[in-house]
This record gives sequence, C-alpha cells and structure tokens, in this order.
Amino acid sequence: MKQVTDESRRQLLKKLTLGMVLVPIAGATLRAAVADDMPLVGADDPTAKALKYVSDASKAPEAKAGSKCANCSLYQGAADSAQGGCLLFPGKSVKASGWCSSWTAKK
Ligand code: SF4
Repeated sequence: MKQVTDESRRQLLKKLTLGMVLVPIAGATLRAAVADDMPLVGADDPTAKALKYVSDASKAPEAKAGSKCANCSLYQGAADSAQGGCLLFPGKSVKASGWCSSWTAKK
C-alpha cells in the first residue's frame, strides 16, 4: 500500500513540476500573440505625445544611449519581438526599437 502512495505522490509532483514550467511559457506565448494583434501606437496618440514616444529610439534626443522599448521594464513583448505591448499603452503595441520618456531599465 505504501508503494502505491509513493508512486501517486511522485506522479503528482511530476505533474506539478510540469505545470510550473508550462504555465509561464504559455503565458509568454499568449502575450506575444495578443501583442501581434494590437495596433501600433500612432504619432497622434495623446499618451504618445505626452511621453514623447518615438518608434526609433535613435531619433529621441533625450534617450539615454542604448535605451529602447525592448530593454524597458514596462515592455511586454517577447525578447526577440519587433513590437509588443507596453503597460502605459493598454491595447496597443510599441516598437521594440522605440522609446519614450518613461523608459525604465529592465532588471
Ligand atoms: S514605457 Fe518603456 S516600453 Fe513603454 S513606450 Fe516607454 S520606453 Fe517603450
């Protein structure tokens, strides 16, 4: 009887471990898929204007060297994505190469 219990416990631990690995992967994939469907932030967007958002960080005179959406802590896109969501622009995407005055280094 003890062997059955140990085997059940092992099976449960395997499933829990697998779930702990797969859930973040599924979440990242879902976020990337959703971001692909979201429209890009336009130049006429009031929030974009207020934050001085540009789609090319090299064209932002105030941008710290090397800073861009892809390495901002608020960027929601995948590591190698061309565009993705941003916490400051709900329902829209920003370019990974973009920048705005709220840029905060990803830790
Ligand atoms: S907050 Fe970060 S990710 Fe969002 S637009 Fe600004 S620099 Fe890009």
